[in-house]
Amino acid sequence: GALPPWQRVDELVLEAYAWARQDASGAVADYIPALAQADPDAFGLCVVEVDGGTHTAGDADAGFSIQSISKAFVYALVCDELGHAAVRERIGVNNTGLAFNSVVAVELNGGHPMNPMVNAGALATTALVPGGAPDEQWAYVQDGLSRFAGRPLALDDEVYASESATNQRNQAIARLLESYGRIEVDPLPVVDVYTRQCSLVVTARDVAVMGATLADGGVNPLTGERVVSAEVCRDTLAVLASTGLYERSGEWLFEIGLPGKSGVAGGIVTVAPGKAGIGAFAPRLDPAGNSVRAQRATGYLSRVLGLNVFASS
Ligand code: GLU
Repeated sequence: GALPPWQRVDELVLEAYAWARQDASGAVADYIPALAQADPDAFGLCVVEVDGGTHTAGDADAGFSIQSISKAFVYALVCDELGHAAVRERIGVNNTGLAFNSVVAVELNGGHPMNPMVNAGALATTALVPGGAPDEQWAYVQDGLSRFAGRPLALDDEVYASESATNQRNQAIARLLESYGRIEVDPLPVVDVYTRQCSLVVTARDVAVMGATLADGGVNPLTGERVVSAEVCRDTLAVLASTGLYERSGEWLFEIGLPGKSGVAGGIVTVAPGKAGIGAFAPRLDPAGNSVRAQRATGYLSRVLGLNVFASS
């Protein structure tokens, strides 16, 4: 069924926020030095319906770096360019069962990146961004993610510098993929474009609009612009459902029943197909790297709004 009336959704978003706020567990990510400076108590929540109706609670307009949430949207853009079969063969759609930045996962799978939501697959995806030259690829990514958000997204220079100085592991993964022929361009510029894409500043509101665009078959409900095709949304959401929450992807789907993608700065995008996008942001993470409060708030909304895609009524 459809969502409840606007006023009722508004109340439930405030309830979800208040309920999730009681949980102060988890820890802010610190493996990227700039992220350790985040305000651990920041918490924002936003729901954007496919008709554009918007609901916010808390720090919905506080900025944070998009991090791995970008993987979902760069993947959608690349799928839109290359098509279902090519992306399936080259990037894959299966879970690794290992950490998002695992080198071993690449080795165990004969050099296959496995899926676009782990760093290996995300790097292989960014390598496929049209343009050829890194600056053109970056312009394509920044423009594409901005069209999902419905406003121009800018780089957080401090996060970009901090992550660039500490991303040797991603450089190693890119080189390893190159050695297996899974990245066919110069790998270090690919890591740079990927690092920039992760350093874009978004808010919970932006993330909800981005999610609502996937929920709306690829049309941004605020700008009316078609960003990707409906088929690409379907494919992207299938990938998010199985691999979006790191090693907790199964638990997330079991509890919440919706495609989502988290990032280590504390953001989570969640998509209720045909209904709404949910953006949540709170920096304290569980051991797998998923925001504790964002998961709780989203789970609450999934239950009270009846969003679980596996529920028959
Ligand atoms: N830019 C981060 C990395 O590659 C993203 C991590 C994440 O959000 O999962 O390590």
